[in-house]
Amino acid sequence: MKTVTFAQKDEVPALGQGSWYMGDEPSRKADEIASLRRGVELGMTLIDTAEMYGSGKSERVVGEAIAPMRDDVFLVSKVLPFNASHEGTIEACEASLSRLGTDRLDLYLLHWPGPHPLEETIAAFEALQKAGKIRHWGVSNFDLNDMTELMSSQGGDQVATNQVLYNLTRRGIEWDLLPQAREDGFPIMAYSPIEQARLLSKPDLASLASDLSLTPAQLALAWVIRKSGLVAIPKAGTVSHVEENARALEVTLSDGTLTELDRLFPPPTRATSLAIL
Ligand code: NAP
Repeated sequence: MKTVTFAQKDEVPALGQGSWYMGDEPSRKADEIASLRRGVELGMTLIDTAEMYGSGKSERVVGEAIAPMRDDVFLVSKVLPFNASHEGTIEACEASLSRLGTDRLDLYLLHWPGPHPLEETIAAFEALQKAGKIRHWGVSNFDLNDMTELMSSQGGDQVATNQVLYNLTRRGIEWDLLPQAREDGFPIMAYSPIEQARLLSKPDLASLASDLSLTPAQLALAWVIRKSGLVAIPKAGTVSHVEENARALEVTLSDGTLTELDRLFPPPTRATSLAIL
């Protein structure tokens, strides 16, 4: 099984689970909980949420799902940039912990660059680490210039990940952000790895997947985690989608398939600004 390692010590399967929009529709809640639990059983133990998602509703669903299996889960949440002052970060984390029904997060991210000085947010992350409320911290939606600023901030080199948009149709990070993360020694967490399901209806992808006896989702996910240092967090609200996606953990794509995917979805040929959803 492919894995990634956070902070040089926590090894986690390279396919996790997202949770954006979970909890928004009460009639879907039981399916969402069953899906998250099945995903963990199948090895997708990293679960990503955020205080922003449904203003805490996603964290509540995730909390309910993981209650019987907390120790099996690598739990990730995020603080909103506007809350990321020193005191605001600590308050936001405590509110997330309460909604999630747990005493600790495995990874706590700044959702995107915001108005508060990075050093203030980092100091709050360090205080939360000392208090045992978070194990690691990281960032999300940080472009190369944001990462340069982070790395030159006090304590910034302890960043455990940058969570960014990455899939076959959003390959911009391959030009600079991904190689830089490798050099700095932390994994990239790929969000919207199937482009919120829009990728799945691309005929060329479907045809190539079918030739390989895979589904388009399995091919797209296996592609994201084809190299070390990449973890993908697809969101699936049904057990059948989770079971389908989990198979991508076992798929190794041949050089020929990777070349064909490069032809269909070309890699970047110049630097571009980081795309955001
Ligand atoms: P995504 O994972 O690319 O796609 C989710 C969509 O794909 C859902 O509609 C889901 O439907 C569908 N789906 C999943 N598996 C499928 C399958 N095998 N066959 C057909 N449809 C399938 O998009 P995302 O939710 O935007 O991104 C994933 C996670 O990344 C989020 O949930 C969130 O945790 C995180 N994220 C972070 C940021 C950030 O700014 N840091 C931004 C966006 C997302 P069902 O629910 O019906 O299964």
